[in-house]
Amino acid sequence: MDNIIKVLPDDVAGQIAAGEVVQRPASVVKELLENSVDAHSTRISLFLTDSGRSSIKVIDNGSGISFDDAANAFLPHATSKISQTGDLFSLSTFGFRGEALPSIAAISDVVLKTRRSTDQIGTLVQISGGKVLKHQQDTAPVGTQIEVRNIFFNVPARRKFLKNDSVEYTHILNEFKRVAISHPEIEFELFNQNNAVYQLKASTFKQRIVSIFGDKMNGSLLPVELNTELVSINGFVSRTDTTRQRGYEQFFFVNNRFMKHPYFHKAVMEAYDGLVAEGSQPFYFLNFSVKPDQIDVNIHPTKTEIKFANEREIWQILSSTVNQAIGKFERITEIDFEKDDAPQIPVFSAGNGKQTITPPSVDVDKSYNPFQSCKSGYYSQGKSGENWENLYARYKDKSQQVTSDDCFEDSGKASAELNGIGSVSSYICFQFLSKYIVTPCPEGIMIVDQHRASVLMNYYDFAARIEDCRVCSQRLLFPELFTITPEQAEMLPVAIPLLTACGFELSDMGGGAVSLTGVPSSFLGKNTDYAGRISDLIDLAVSDKDSEMEKRKESFARYLAGQVSIPYGKQLTNSDMSSILDFVFSQIESCTDSCRGIDGKRLYNIISADSIGRLF
Ligand code: ADP
Ligand code: MG
Repeated sequence: MDNIIKVLPDDVAGQIAAGEVVQRPASVVKELLENSVDAHSTRISLFLTDSGRSSIKVIDNGSGISFDDAANAFLPHATSKISQTGDLFSLSTFGFRGEALPSIAAISDVVLKTRRSTDQIGTLVQISGGKVLKHQQDTAPVGTQIEVRNIFFNVPARRKFLKNDSVEYTHILNEFKRVAISHPEIEFELFNQNNAVYQLKASTFKQRIVSIFGDKMNGSLLPVELNTELVSINGFVSRTDTTRQRGYEQFFFVNNRFMKHPYFHKAVMEAYDGLVAEGSQPFYFLNFSVKPDQIDVNIHPTKTEIKFANEREIWQILSSTVNQAIGKFERITEIDFEKDDAPQIPVFSAGNGKQTITPPSVDVDKSYNPFQSCKSGYYSQGKSGENWENLYARYKDKSQQVTSDDCFEDSGKASAELNGIGSVSSYICFQFLSKYIVTPCPEGIMIVDQHRASVLMNYYDFAARIEDCRVCSQRLLFPELFTITPEQAEMLPVAIPLLTACGFELSDMGGGAVSLTGVPSSFLGKNTDYAGRISDLIDLAVSDKDSEMEKRKESFARYLAGQVSIPYGKQLTNSDMSSILDFVFSQIESCTDSCRGIDGKRLYNIISADSIGRLF
């Protein structure tokens, strides 16, 4: 029988190897940008045509490549970055495998133009599907310019699997951001179809984050800085009041290389546990500096997970650093001197003799009687003006005893219109730990979670109103103008009708600017970071891109409910408590199963009369 094993022809082997490195246009962008960074460029420009399908061009002002190296760079495993195994443990470059250029050239048309500053004349190399078509001297500015056209032109199966342009563009933007954030000292530009999307000047880390994610980030970033023998961690985490519904803006870098690290991610998440609303997440931009031999660099070219030698110890350091950052800065009003419009602090002029300083005075209301206010306020949950005597009279006929049934009596009628329309019932109840509402019920004592109940109540309300486009909108006195990211701008045509149904009045001003003229009336006075809220909602639309309209409406309703709901720690008025209890009792009536919030957690618990009895 004939032998059947054959060595694959070079072009087939090349295409298979290329599949490892180049999965989509964004992989090309990543490799080219990283090569430019490795070449010590101070300015890197990226030009895209058709989200990279037709052309990806990167121009840098880095070291350039010599005439011979320019062709050799396209040979498999040709690299200038390491020469022996030992070098792997002291890597300071992105690249080291020498796989990117040959892989890219195997599946596209590539034109490279390059010149070193010491050379009079530059070099041109043209390759198509791995075959060198031209290798000649040519004029070229100092640096390297490389254009990759018609990606996967010779691998139709792969080309077919590319997603639509906006998906590929989003992947490219992600790669661009990762490199740009971790190298703020380099100037970056991104042009899509000749439109400037980003023009980022060399800056500090913080300024770079703000120029990529928008002004809304300024003031929301808490600095993190710690240096230990093992690791240095620096960067920013978000304030607890400016978290996001989804974790898009979460970036870890190790020695300026983007990485994903689910274990470290957990350390950051735990620091925010209990401090942020259910379902929302902090954003973070954290750079770990470790000795190169402390991480396993020999990772797969497309993988971003990185293994550390001392993961447990670093986890603990990270956890306590983030905790400290939150604790230290959370309650201090920050004056941001990096911001252009930093507040003017008036200087006290000691020499000004005319200035008179009066000591603070204390006014006492001599007629105030604390016991009087007690009567009509806290303990009595009846109509306003009702006093102890009246309250007592209410139960007079029932053997002078207040039983739980009495208080529950009204709950059947508790279908009062929510959201302040119509009347609400009154209950004997009080607030406990600024978190729970306690009230008697036929089975014993009911303890209601104020936040969860309020979220669910608002969720139903928003869901119904969004469905019927009935969310009341309130015009802002002054329109708010703010910028959104290019990804968000792409999603605007889909997001605007949804936002309008939610009560936002928003118009697209073009060039990534939007003008906000109205907000849902329930938002007024509660949350004035409207730009942040809109940005969150557009992000939700981006992430639900492929979902049905129904699903989008649902996630918008969930989000809005979370925003306007009563938080823990808020002191409730009698009418706040009554409307929540009305809602809970109406839920109990309509639910067959136990009632749970939108996060699946319990809305209330009941301490039964029996267990109270057993206490005695
Ligand atoms: P690696 O980056 O792993 O070394 P690549 O295939 O990406 O492998 O690049 C091969 C070589 O080509 C690099 O080692 C470098 O010497 C050279 N090179 C690639 N891009 C550039 C660039 N933009 N500027 C200067 N040299 C470059
Ligand atoms: Mg490389």
